[in-house]
Amino acid sequence: MEYVLQTDNLTKKYRNFQALNGLSMHVPKGAIYGFVGKNGAGKTTLIRLICGLQEPTSGEFSLYGIKNNSRDIVKSRRRMGAVVETPAIYLDMTAEENLKQQYLILGLPSYDGIPELLKLVGLENTGKKKAKHFSLGMKQRLGIAVSLAGDPDFLVLDEPVNGLDPQGIVEIRELILKLNHERQITVLISSHILDELSRLATHYGIIDHGRMVRELSAQELDAASRKCVCIEVSDTAVLARVLDSMNLEYRIHSETTADIFAKINVTQLTIALAKENCEVLSIQENDESLESFFISLVGGTKQ
Ligand code: ADP
Repeated sequence: MEYVLQTDNLTKKYRNFQALNGLSMHVPKGAIYGFVGKNGAGKTTLIRLICGLQEPTSGEFSLYGIKNNSRDIVKSRRRMGAVVETPAIYLDMTAEENLKQQYLILGLPSYDGIPELLKLVGLENTGKKKAKHFSLGMKQRLGIAVSLAGDPDFLVLDEPVNGLDPQGIVEIRELILKLNHERQITVLISSHILDELSRLATHYGIIDHGRMVRELSAQELDAASRKCVCIEVSDTAVLARVLDSMNLEYRIHSETTADIFAKINVTQLTIALAKENCEVLSIQENDESLESFFISLVGGTKQ
């Protein structure tokens, strides 16, 4: 698999606080990669590092196969557009003026691409209206247009739908899908809003306390989420041992009950448990939402 971004054991320490703690992640080319974690998990920190806004404490990453400590990382970064925290726009300028400004900064030879870019993000009819009078969603879309000015093939969006109304959320979602499908732009989106991400993402990276808890494709997540088996046994300590040996995800609820997050072979599991004198009392397959799968990995609530 070809990766646009790979990080290897990346750490970032702010004084005594370890914001990233050996993070390894892999963003495949062409993916919409949902970077998921609770607030404070380290998502923005990772994004700041790959954008070159901060330096890692240790570990490394590569963009298009170029390592962060190589001189050529600057060239790789030119292929990348990003909206980090708040969109980088001038509030006293119109949408068109904002794009002209960005074209000047990038040293682009002509403004010819601007009308198409405005149309792409649905801001072609904003005329003389200054960005300060835009809705939050329009500002966010203008921020995305600015980040697209250099024609990147990798777009990084930090919490793009935070604070948006439902209509604004739909517009951003449709824009991201269009950029991915029609322009083959690889997208990394950080979010703690799983429900929205699950409508877009082809891959997920689940981060907690600065560590990658799990990376998986949407198909894998879907398969794992649907298969949640509630099991009642005579001793969950034995069950945990057996499930560990089978490399299966689970959550113990009590001395006798547990959830298993995988498609299990009931006969095989029952025989394995019987060998350890553990009896299966009941088994029930449940639907498990993406959100619960998530919580089973990182615990607590998403917030
Ligand atoms: P997320 O984007 O997942 O919400 P962040 O990467 O913003 O998380 O933050 C991770 C942790 O690092 C948080 O606990 C935050 O308070 C801390 N942090 C972020 N930036 C700084 C900084 N400049 N100095 C000290 N601590 C910071």
